[in-house]
Amino acid sequence: MIYNDFHGLKLSRLGFGCMRFKMDPATGEIDQEKVNAMFRLAYESGVNYYDTAYPYLDGKSELAMAEALSAYPRESYYLADKFPGHSISGPIDNIALFNKSLEKCRTEYFDFYLLHNINEWSVNRYESDEYHILADVLKMKEEGKIRHLGFSFHGGPELLEDFLNRHEGIFEFVQIQCNYLDWTLQDAKKKYDIITGHGLGVWIMEPCRGGKLAVLDEELSKKLKVFDEKASDASYAFRFLQGLDNIKMILSGMNEVEQVEDNLKTFEEYKPLSDEERDTLFAIAEALKQGVPCTGCRYCCKGCPMELDIPMLIECYNNFKTGAGMNISVRIDGLDDDKKPSACIGCGQCSHACPQGIDVPAVMVELNDLYVKGPKWADTVKTRDKIIREELKGK
Ligand code: SF4
Ligand code: SF4
Repeated sequence: MIYNDFHGLKLSRLGFGCMRFKMDPATGEIDQEKVNAMFRLAYESGVNYYDTAYPYLDGKSELAMAEALSAYPRESYYLADKFPGHSISGPIDNIALFNKSLEKCRTEYFDFYLLHNINEWSVNRYESDEYHILADVLKMKEEGKIRHLGFSFHGGPELLEDFLNRHEGIFEFVQIQCNYLDWTLQDAKKKYDIITGHGLGVWIMEPCRGGKLAVLDEELSKKLKVFDEKASDASYAFRFLQGLDNIKMILSGMNEVEQVEDNLKTFEEYKPLSDEERDTLFAIAEALKQGVPCTGCRYCCKGCPMELDIPMLIECYNNFKTGAGMNISVRIDGLDDDKKPSACIGCGQCSHACPQGIDVPAVMVELNDLYVKGPKWADTVKTRDKIIREELKGK
């Protein structure tokens, strides 16, 4: 196992993400035997970082993780959990919720604790006096129940920069979705640079974009087999991240023993990509992208009578088309109504200015359709909020 130094801690570069354990569809129960077997293999091979969150798997991830880790001394691994401010529909007893997580994880403290999923919609909750989340989380840190504080982030680079500027000195690390496809598709490069510029550690989630990069189409996979017949597609996604110096943690949501074995092989030694391999991955990323070729030049923005952030909306459109759902929909939720795609009046000023010849009004119409018909975060919050409050009441 290869390791990283983070403030004197020796962190395995591969972390175990606990959001994808297999659940029996009939009973809704997690296959604990399988979780135990995967953890045994990971732990004995040097993985020392385990990441969960209150809402994962309807609240059952924390319990399954704690059960699997109960076989090992607490001080021999690092535990990460998250405060679900994005999953509650009104103020709640934050301290009770935090303590519930400690109880479910069978621990007295979290080595790493994150504000979960900051984005354009949830940021107001995390910063609001009424919800009082940040102040309470900082109190837990003062009491020694949190060793290192960070946040996971799904918004755009502008929000990331603003948020970090507003809270300079509070956080030590930021967890972002980053992989060779989102490097450009979701501006992960910009986010990586912003976090690095603030002197914080970068944590990675979705290294294989929810499995999309783990097993490629046969034609795309063949391009990688040229380098090594036996290496998995997933190994290239991980090695791309290994080559980025400020990445301190790469989380993989593993759910099969074979997947753990393959990942452990990739992290046995430091194997950053050659230039040729990296170029091939970027070519694969381009082949995977759907949507329109917006370069983000912003020439279209000046003439827009509705002052829409057209490149940002097109980024959302391209992400929808490439298969990302809820996190993109949440970014649009966070916009005022007069800045949503539905506010486009179809005047066409933008298309005249666009060097790429993009039919922006048509994109806005389709984006609005995808957004309106897609799943809504507000519905997920209702369900999650109910589960959380019932659990706190001891139901
Ligand atoms: S067509 Fe829509 S996006 Fe383009 S300039 Fe007009 S209002 Fe703005
Ligand atoms: S002018 Fe065209 S390429 Fe440039 S940001 Fe606008 S839509 Fe994108």
